[in-house]
Order: sequence, then C-alpha cells, then structure tokens
Amino acid sequence: MKRFILSLISVMILITVCVAMTSSERQDKYVAVFHPAAVKTQDVAEEFFGKEEIIPEEPVVKEPVVEEPKVYDGVVYLTFDDGPVEAITVPILDILKEYGVKATFFTLGSYGERNPEILKRQAEEGHTVANHSYSHKKDIFQSLSTFQSEIEKTNEVILNATGKEVKFFRIPYGTKVGAAYKEYLDSLGMEVIGWNCESYDSRTPKRTAEQILEGVKSTSKGKKEVIVIMHDTYGKTETVKALPSVIEYFQSINYEFKAF
Ligand SMILES: [Zn+2]
Repeated sequence: MKRFILSLISVMILITVCVAMTSSERQDKYVAVFHPAAVKTQDVAEEFFGKEEIIPEEPVVKEPVVEEPKVYDGVVYLTFDDGPVEAITVPILDILKEYGVKATFFTLGSYGERNPEILKRQAEEGHTVANHSYSHKKDIFQSLSTFQSEIEKTNEVILNATGKEVKFFRIPYGTKVGAAYKEYLDSLGMEVIGWNCESYDSRTPKRTAEQILEGVKSTSKGKKEVIVIMHDTYGKTETVKALPSVIEYFQSINYEFKAF
C-alpha cells in the first residue's frame, strides 16, 4: 500500500511537471527572452511593461525664412545690337556670366543663321534673343511685304536655334515705323524696344573703352530706367573691354539688371 501511494505521488508530480513544461505560454516567454529576434519587440515590451498608449508627437511647424527683397535705386537693361559674331558675342557672354547679369540681344537673322549655337547659348543662359531684322539694310521699309519677310525670317532663325518665340524688335537705324508696320508687329505680339542711353560704340572715329563708359554714364544720369545700346558685331573689341566697367558702374549706383 505504501509503495502504491508513493508510485501515485510520483506519477502526479511527473504529470504536473510535464504540464508545466509544455505550457505554450512558458515556451513563448522563453523564446521571447532568450531569442528576442524570434518575436516582435512590441510583444516583448507589452509582456514586461504592459500596453502603452502611443501619443503622436505634435508636428513642429517651422516659420518659413523670408528673405527681404533687395531694394534697388533703378533698373538697367543692357542691349546688344547687330550680332551675333563669334569673336565679340562669345566674350560678351562670358563677361555677363561672370557677373551674373542678363541682357537682351537684338539679333540680325543673317548672322544668327550662321551662329545658331551662340543664339542657343544666349537663351540657355537666361538672356533674351530679340529681332533686329534679317539684313539690316535701309530698304527693309521699301514695302510692307519686304519688312514682313525680314521679320519672319529672323524670327524663324531664332525660334529654330532657341526654341523660343520672339517678342521684341529693335528698328535698324532707330527710325520709326509707320502705322501699317506697327500693326503688323502687333499682330505677331511683338513690341518695339528703343533705348535712352548711348555707349557711342558704333560712332566713328572708334571710341575707346573709357569713352564708352563715359558715354553710358553721361547719358544715363538721372534716369531710373536705363536702356543701354551697345553692339556685339564685327570690330567691337572696345565694347568687350568696356563691358566689365559698365556693369560695375551700374552695380555701384545700386541698379538692378534686367533683360526684356
Ligand atoms: Zn543695328
């Protein structure tokens, strides 16, 4: 009888141990503690610390940094007529790039046709490529149809090189256009641009770089909106030389550079 009771107790202990060992809960805890990679970190955390409510953080709203717009004392448009020619226009573009200044080029269609890569560069670097007729001949005003052909051919040369429609025209020799010509330009959405500041770089005898700067200074004096006429055509080496001092002059009097 005593042996039977001992055997019964042993069997009961064995069953209790087995039940305890096979408890899936225990197994999970064992896995969680000794093999953390096998269970989600979140589950383990909940097991030990209980569930915690996750409160989303308030998004931090940063005040946008607003830069004060620079206040200028005037505006200056640098304009170049009668190009492009490689020996002059390319160094002019290099100088403009160095100073970070945008300008307007009144292109001759016949020259632009021979230098499309220069027109392309002008447009790519943020300058305005405008129309100054195809041939620059005095007889472009002979008839409206001659004038139309001069305008259209040049617009096409510029459009092909730059991919941009032409919006501005400067009249060769600065002569005024008659009503019919003006009406035609209006129909194309093109505006005529004159000038109010002389560099005298197309005068004879040839002006030096110093004289070009003096011309610009004296003819822009007191004007809040200045349109400087210069030339980027054959022989205008003094214009290239004068350009840095012209730019520095307008910088020194706090004028903003703009292109049309
Ligand atoms: Zn011209």
